[in-house]
Amino acid sequence: MPETTIEPTSTPRTTTASRTSERSRSAAFVRPVRAVATLGAVGALVAAIALPAFASAAGPADAGPVTTEQLAADNAQSIVVASEATQAPSAREQFTATTPDEIEKQKAEAAAAARAAAAATTVSSRPSIAGLALVAPGSGAVRYPLTSFTPGEGPGSGRGHEGWDMIAPEGTPIYAAAAGTVTASAESIGGYGVSIMIMSDLNGTMVETRYAHMVYGSRMVEAGDQVQAGQLIGLVGNTGNSYGSHLHFEVRIGGSVLDPEPWLAANAG
Ligand SMILES: [Zn+2]
Repeated sequence: MPETTIEPTSTPRTTTASRTSERSRSAAFVRPVRAVATLGAVGALVAAIALPAFASAAGPADAGPVTTEQLAADNAQSIVVASEATQAPSAREQFTATTPDEIEKQKAEAAAAARAAAAATTVSSRPSIAGLALVAPGSGAVRYPLTSFTPGEGPGSGRGHEGWDMIAPEGTPIYAAAAGTVTASAESIGGYGVSIMIMSDLNGTMVETRYAHMVYGSRMVEAGDQVQAGQLIGLVGNTGNSYGSHLHFEVRIGGSVLDPEPWLAANAG
């Protein structure tokens, strides 16, 4: 069935007119604030401290409503502070909010980003790995990523599932299936959630293995790191598009998805 072409001709026009009108009102209202913000950006002097400096102006609810003029004045004060930073401010550091609500949202986003950055770099915030073997048993070039698990769904189910779900309790150690180079390691990679990808050269065949849904903060390696077969790389979790603790494990050769279960059965040792 082709898409319907019968639509009221007035609909687009009405929508366009309405949007244009909104944009005009909005632009007129925020012009003083924008002008100040632009001045700061042009000087490339707006540093990370601009937002915190402004934060006190946005203030608690009992401070009463903040007018556009106050916003502009306070913002002007906050950008007086020059920075020795040589790089231009990132989009996140630039002051672009035009209403107290937006400012609160930006503050919250900045705080969340700071917490995420701290969590990623603070070792003490990581889940404990005390008592876990740092290397999986075995001596082969290929190892099972989990030493104890319940087999779950494999690839080829017809719903785009490209890995093997290895069911295990949260916190179960995950081991690199083969020696190689970490090509990706992040707290969130789409539906994979906390995940790691490793490229391995196995007798001249480049094999990529992927480990998804790990526990937040449990990644032991970063992109560019070299790993050994059986090296502890993280912990089984339930992040990303996952409903229940398990390792979603993928094996790819030349970009094609392999069924990890028979591949491990044939190669792991
Ligand atoms: Zn899966």
